[in-house]
Amino acid sequence: MKAILIFFTFFLTTTVGFAAKDKIIVVIDPGHGGNDPGYLSSNKAYLSEKELNLIIAKKFGESIEQQLKNVTVIYTRKDDSFPTLKDRVLIANNANADYFISIHCNANDKKHVHGTESHVHTMDAGKSVCLAKEFEKEFTSFAGRYSRGVKDTEDREHSLQVLKYTNMTGVLLECGFLTNESEAEYLNTANGQEKISSALFRAFKSYIIKQHPSISFIKEEPKKVDVVASNSPENKGVGYSIQIMSSKQAVDTTIPEFKKIDLPVARNEIETTSPYKYRYTVGSYPSQDEAKRDLEKIQQKGFKDAYIVKVN
Ligand SMILES: [Zn+2]
Repeated sequence: MKAILIFFTFFLTTTVGFAAKDKIIVVIDPGHGGNDPGYLSSNKAYLSEKELNLIIAKKFGESIEQQLKNVTVIYTRKDDSFPTLKDRVLIANNANADYFISIHCNANDKKHVHGTESHVHTMDAGKSVCLAKEFEKEFTSFAGRYSRGVKDTEDREHSLQVLKYTNMTGVLLECGFLTNESEAEYLNTANGQEKISSALFRAFKSYIIKQHPSISFIKEEPKKVDVVASNSPENKGVGYSIQIMSSKQAVDTTIPEFKKIDLPVARNEIETTSPYKYRYTVGSYPSQDEAKRDLEKIQQKGFKDAYIVKVN
């Protein structure tokens, strides 16, 4: 009996051990590449679709790597190479990824057609549909785009190989129409690219937090090495602060953009493998609720991606 009990306990713990996931993998797939430019505008000042896809994809992936923990990002391409559609599927399936997100820009013969679309293989794929809806929601609420909604094989009247053959939750995004003058212009600006990739990040983040309650995605502020302009004497002990941005090179904390906030900005150099080793924070709050009040003000002053961090 004892032996059975020991065996049963062992079986239980190991099974639970295997079942509990502590990390997720996302494959980001910038559409086209190499000899396949995707949509090419007749306006030579505009980038090709393959270039825009890569810019947006990289910004999206960088935000995940900088701001979330326990997420591994794999790209199907990080340069102007062309993995075949079969290669892209294999990369995702072989990595046993949890998410596959393909990034494209759209085109249509009718120049007035505009808006964003999130494609899934089938409306029966519940998780993919939920994630797609989250993307469309942020395209509208955060980036102010017109959403054409979630589409599947029946809407398109054809299937998309990268969605059909990948084994995981998958969405193919069409970030706007390059054949529509105002969307082409928007997608070709740094601001447009930033907004679109931030919308993708916000959607992905809120989806995975809901989907994987057992995994912690919120990064705790690493140990501070050098506080250049500590804003308050009580900036010590456990509490919360608001991170407004990060940078590769040290930025002066008295620049006009920071002055708009009306609160002292602290630059912290942190120990990290990321090239973004300078983090800029505002305030020291004993609770998240107190930090939230200032967070809203800071976001209204232009730092829309500011977020609350835990300070050790
Ligand atoms: Zn495309």
